Amino acid sequence: MKYCSTRGKVKGLSFSDAVMMGLADDGGLLLPEEIPTYSANELAELGELSYPDLAFRVISRFVDDIPAADLKKLIDTAYSSFEHPDTTPIVKQDGIYILELFHGPTLAFKDVALQFLGNLFEYLLDKSGCRMNIIGATSGDTGSAAIYGVRGRKNINIFILHPKGRVSPIQELQMTTVTDENVFNLAVEGTFDDAQSIVKEIFGDLDFKEKHALGAVNSINWARVLAQVVYYFYAWFQVNKETGCKEIEVSVPTGNFGDIFAGYVAKEMGVPIKRLILATNANSILSRFVNDGDYSAAEVHQSLSPSMDIQVASNFERYLFYLYGKDSEAVCKAMDDFKKSGILNFTDEQLQQVQSTFTASAVNDEETIEAIAKFHKETGYTLDPHTAVGVEAGCRTRDKNLPLVCLSTAHPAKFGSAVKSAIGQDPELPTVFQGIEKKPKKLEVIAAKTEEIKAFVEKHAR
Ligand SMILES: *Cc1c(COP(=O)(O)O)cnc(C)c1O
Repeated sequence: MKYCSTRGKVKGLSFSDAVMMGLADDGGLLLPEEIPTYSANELAELGELSYPDLAFRVISRFVDDIPAADLKKLIDTAYSSFEHPDTTPIVKQDGIYILELFHGPTLAFKDVALQFLGNLFEYLLDKSGCRMNIIGATSGDTGSAAIYGVRGRKNINIFILHPKGRVSPIQELQMTTVTDENVFNLAVEGTFDDAQSIVKEIFGDLDFKEKHALGAVNSINWARVLAQVVYYFYAWFQVNKETGCKEIEVSVPTGNFGDIFAGYVAKEMGVPIKRLILATNANSILSRFVNDGDYSAAEVHQSLSPSMDIQVASNFERYLFYLYGKDSEAVCKAMDDFKKSGILNFTDEQLQQVQSTFTASAVNDEETIEAIAKFHKETGYTLDPHTAVGVEAGCRTRDKNLPLVCLSTAHPAKFGSAVKSAIGQDPELPTVFQGIEKKPKKLEVIAAKTEEIKAFVEKHAR
C-alpha cells in the first residue's frame, strides 16, 4: 500500500514514511492510494476476533512494510494498556449503543490512536537509528494522551505546552504527574492560542525543525486515523450479533473531523454504516456544511465540550479529496480559496453526496447539560459533555429503524464540573485519578515567548 498527498505533489510513500512525515511536505494530508474493501463474507470472518486481533487484521490491510509479527506486537502492546478486557466495550442504555472508547490510560478516546502511534514511532526510530523531539500545544486531552503514548520511550522526547492554570485541574494533573525523563510539561503564562502559535512558529523555523528532528502528534497523522477505523468494525460486529440488523448508524462528536473521518473510511471499506451522524457543539461549521453546504469559518466559542472547540478542522481536507473525486488540483484550489475568503462553496450534486453519507446537528451548552441530566435520570448512566453532544445529535437525526451507536469519547470524571451542574453530584472518580493530586509533579513555568521556549527545547532535546 502506497500513500499520496491530498495536494498531489507527494506520492508513492510507504506506510512508515507516511507515519514519519505526518503533514505531507506539500502542505496536504496523506492518504492511502486505494481504500481496501471487504465483501460481506470477508467481513463476517472477522466477527469473532478480540479487539487487538481485529485491529491487526484491519490495520494490516494498510501496511506492507512492517513484518506481520512486529506489527502484531505493536498493536497488542498498545491495547494491553486498556483496563477493560473488551478494549472498547459497548453498553446499551435506553435503546442506544454506547461505544466506550475511554478505557485507556488517560480516559479519553485519543488513547486508542496514541498508544499505537507511540509504539510505532519508537519502533520506526529504533530501526532507522533516528531520534525525535515531539512538540505540541494542548488545551487538555491531546497533551496527556500524547504524553502517555511516548512516556519512557527510547529515542523520543516530548514537550507539551499548556496554558498555565487554564486546563481543568484533572487534565493538568494527568500531564504534570508524568515524571519520566523524556517528558517535559511547559506551563505557559498565556492562553491556549498563545501556546499554539508558539508551536507553529517553532515548526516554521525549518533549521530548528531539522536540527532537532521535531515531530508532531496532532490528528493529521495517518496512523491516528487508521487506529480509529478499527472500532467502527468492532461496534458493527457487537450490534449486529445482538440485533441481526443489516445496517447501523453511528453518531460521532466532532472537532478536527479525525474520528468521523475514520468512520468514513470504515464505511468505504464495507462496514454497513448507513449514515454517520456528525455532532458539533456551538462551533458548528461542520454541521452547517452538512445541512446547508455552508462551510464558513466563525470565531471559536468556548464550550462545555472543549475538545471540540475548533472551527477549521484539519482532517476535513481528507474528506474533500474524496468529495472532489480524488482531484488534487481541486483540493489545492479549494484550500487556497478558503485561506483567502474563509468560505467554501459546493454544488448541489456535491451537497447531495455529502448528505447521503452524513446527517448533522449542533448542540449548544444548555442542550448538552439537558442531555446529560435527562440521560442520567432515565438510565442512571453518566455521559461526559462530548459524548452528550453526540447522543443528543444522534437522537435528533437518527433513522429510528436502525440501531444507533454513539461514540463515547471521554470518561465523565474528566469534565467533572459540567457533569456536576447537570446531575447535581460529582461523577465517580475512577481509581487512576484517586490520590493523583498527591503524586510528584514535573513541570516548568515559562513565559509565552517563542525564544524562551526554543531555548528550553534546545537544552533538553534528544
Ligand atoms: C479530541 C476529542 C474529540 C474530537 O475528536 P476529533 O477527532 O478531533 O473530531 C471529541 N471528544 C473528546 C473527548 C476529545 O478529546
